[in-house]
Amino acid sequence: MILKTIPVTQYLTTNTYFYIDEKSGHGWIVDPAAEADKLLQIISENAWQIEKILLTHGHFDHIGAVLTISDTLQIPYFIHHNGNQYLTNPQFNLSAMTPEPIILKQAQYLKDNDIITLSANPEICLQVISTPGHTLDGAIYYDKSNSLAFVGDTIFKDSYGATHFPGGNFAQLMSSIKNKILTLPEETLLYPGHEAATSVKHEKNNFK
Ligand SMILES: [Zn+2]
Repeated sequence: MILKTIPVTQYLTTNTYFYIDEKSGHGWIVDPAAEADKLLQIISENAWQIEKILLTHGHFDHIGAVLTISDTLQIPYFIHHNGNQYLTNPQFNLSAMTPEPIILKQAQYLKDNDIITLSANPEICLQVISTPGHTLDGAIYYDKSNSLAFVGDTIFKDSYGATHFPGGNFAQLMSSIKNKILTLPEETLLYPGHEAATSVKHEKNNFK
């Protein structure tokens, strides 16, 4: 698999990830956060076929380029089912505090433990694992075969997500981290929504 981390910036800098099967050139984009033109150019330069947009949660700094990319490529976007109230409500997705409130009405919804399979190569799949706490809709996308997960703002290198936004809950976040993320195999690499990647092994030392 090809994994490309593209930091994009509008109000904040967020990691957008491309996860592409090199055999078929098909793959996914995780959290197209901003700078849609730059992301579309990367897709076109590489002649990738992006099958789906996957969202780790519905905060404004993770969804800023969803509409443009979904419309341009004619592909659907997916989020945990609790994401409905975030994507459709600027107070929840926090875009109300920006000059351009975001409302996304066409999402398709996922539930805990759903499996997302790449159409062009069914051997490639991601497991949806619900990890509420930073938001009610937080979910990670786990590739067991390749030992990695896209973890959004649930956990960061040496840190974890904020819990003071709508739907946030500190006890729930700690439970998600300890019971859903740190229970993955130690070699699992964790790709967060901001800053550098980390691993289950590294973070276990921080949550002793
Ligand atoms: Zn967030």
